[in-house]
Amino acid sequence: MTVMADLAALQAVDSELDRLRRAVGELQGRIADDTALRELRAVRAATAASLQQQQLAQRRYEGESASERLEIQRREQRLSGPAIHDMHSYQATQSEIEQHTGKLRDLEDSLVAAMEDVELTTQQLQEMDAKIAAAAAERAQQVAAWQQELRSLQAEGAQQQELRARRLAPLTPGALATYTRLRQQKGGRAVATLHGNICGVCRVAVPPTTVAKARPGNGFIPCDNCGRLLYVAH
Ligand SMILES: [Zn+2]
Repeated sequence: MTVMADLAALQAVDSELDRLRRAVGELQGRIADDTALRELRAVRAATAASLQQQQLAQRRYEGESASERLEIQRREQRLSGPAIHDMHSYQATQSEIEQHTGKLRDLEDSLVAAMEDVELTTQQLQEMDAKIAAAAAERAQQVAAWQQELRSLQAEGAQQQELRARRLAPLTPGALATYTRLRQQKGGRAVATLHGNICGVCRVAVPPTTVAKARPGNGFIPCDNCGRLLYVAH
């Protein structure tokens, strides 16, 4: 094989390794990214916090209603007891009972509203839990599949590395250094295969004299346009 054929074969392996590395990186990103699930859990946490507030409000209204009921009861007992001895104190007590009854009615309205809130939010939480459980199960399944895909990509990468070592064997350090430098400068492609007189990478026509020089494949003849080493496949 000529040095250009050896470099073209090395580049084929290196391009495949680049592709595998990108695929591995992309998979690892997907495996690590649990944003959707974390967002669902954050919404659930906020909903659980408002449920706690609603339950506190419900208990407060229950407590306040109970004490209003006690106030009313106490005055009703007073009405039938010896403390009421004239019309004035009877009417005063009656009016107090009406005031407390009004307050109790308002408190009971608030209590009913709070209970409705608690019921609704409890139901929302249950729905969220089901949604989160389904999303977590689905993601666990996806992650397992991605990890399997990752393992096969890594195995493929190891095979390509072995192949690369074989491709390196015939190359001199100088040829390898030129290839490596060009590959870094030219977006991963140091070698361009000629198709007729067209550079296989930049697609520009190469002059016949350059094609003639590149044909033996033993020297480094760069493309006049992109500077990649021209390779003529025989
Ligand atoms: Zn070119």
